[in-house]
Amino acid sequence: MKAVVYKSTGSWYSVKTEDGTPYNARIKGAFKIEGLKSTNPVAVGDLVDIEDGDLENNVMITNIYDRHNYITRTSPHNKNQHHIIASNLDQCVLVATLREPKTSMGFVDRFLITAEAYHIPAIIVFNKADVYRKKEMEHFEHLKNMYESVGYTVILTSTVSGHGVDEVKELLKEKVTLISGHSGVGKSSFINIIFPEKNLKTKEVSGWSGKGMHTTTFAEMFDLPFGGKIIDTPGIRELGLVDIPKQELSHYYPEMRDTLQDCQFNNCLHVEEPGCAIKAAVESGKIYADRYVSYLNILGTIEEDYK
Ligand code: GDP
Ligand code: ZN
Repeated sequence: MKAVVYKSTGSWYSVKTEDGTPYNARIKGAFKIEGLKSTNPVAVGDLVDIEDGDLENNVMITNIYDRHNYITRTSPHNKNQHHIIASNLDQCVLVATLREPKTSMGFVDRFLITAEAYHIPAIIVFNKADVYRKKEMEHFEHLKNMYESVGYTVILTSTVSGHGVDEVKELLKEKVTLISGHSGVGKSSFINIIFPEKNLKTKEVSGWSGKGMHTTTFAEMFDLPFGGKIIDTPGIRELGLVDIPKQELSHYYPEMRDTLQDCQFNNCLHVEEPGCAIKAAVESGKIYADRYVSYLNILGTIEEDYK
């Protein structure tokens, strides 16, 4: 039987079959070793085969279908160890805000680079619109124009006034969406208004078999009442910025991709090199200066060229 993984608590998985029946699942022993490319062999979003339900509805995961895509997190202890946060995503949403507390553009751009690296369309939601003054509204308009010109969807929301909420719901319909954001931006408030039933979460946990349960959950998937699924990522401050060599960083800026072919040197980092087409495009206004500055900042954080 096919099922989708909704939650992982370490050794136990919460899965649901296509008809919506939930099961507690474990991984069949031998298969577990075979799948160990990351620290977790099965991730939220995975499509799996299950078999052998016992009286308590416990089943075995016997196969994982190929993932269309996935997002990983690098272990803070070992750079070579990856944890798969979620798989088979249609899109990802970054909840940000321009006040209380302001999300930095560097943070937004690192998120977008990650999304580009995994080929997952990204939506930026600027929340707390109700507290934006003229200054923040102007800044928002600027960012909206900028990010939309690059190809991202940008929405202004407020969980207090309800502004923009329907627009976001519309985008989530029938899609599998990962939702991410710094704590304090209103991600939980947002999930609660688009999905009041999410409060069932605590009930689900207490109804869980209890075996091998951990308090640190990395990601959990929820069915939306209007169709579609969201994957919440509590406790994940930032998606892992994939190991990008300096040389390749500009490839993850969609507006730079076409232009960089015109640089005089094909190993141009677009910093001080003569004949740089990117710098020329920034000067002529074809590329937003903010994005170029964020590019330089992120470039500066890449220590070594990966071989
Ligand atoms: P999370 O950490 O991202 O999940 O954020 P929360 O949903 O817990 O919200 C953090 C704080 O921001 C809480 O005090 C919320 O009441 C507040 N908040 C959330 N959304 C909005 C909003 O749209 N406008 C305003 N003014 N405050 C908000
Ligand atoms: Zn260049």
